[in-house]
Amino acid sequence: MKKILVVEDNPDTMYLVCFMLNNHGYSVLQAWNGRESVEMAIRERPDLILMDIQLPDMDGLEATRQIRASPVDDSIPIAALTSYALANDRQQALAAGCSGYIEKPIDPDQFLNQIQHFLTPSSDETPHDHPDS
Ligand code: MN
Repeated sequence: MKKILVVEDNPDTMYLVCFMLNNHGYSVLQAWNGRESVEMAIRERPDLILMDIQLPDMDGLEATRQIRASPVDDSIPIAALTSYALANDRQQALAAGCSGYIEKPIDPDQFLNQIQHFLTPSSDETPHDHPDS
């Protein structure tokens, strides 16, 4: 069972994300601030981390930098949860060591595909599937 660490301080978003992940058989861990996220990443070694940017203590960028500087394997994907409006957040997230991002508000129709994409071992050179129709 794949283990996903969700870092999010907004209860509604945390509930929605964890509900969808649980429903699809993922094992879900919750962290509500940056410090917790770093501790849990090191202790639990999740298969994927979903990282909110605005958190009550350090921001998600700093948490990502600390996870990347920790003994946690650098190949663990970290997906930033970024606001659609904030293009700057996305660039900063990548610079901080995130593997990519998922835009908020979360789109329930796309979310699980996005999760699977991050869990799939990197195949950057492989063209994406394009259905013929
Ligand atoms: Mn937040």
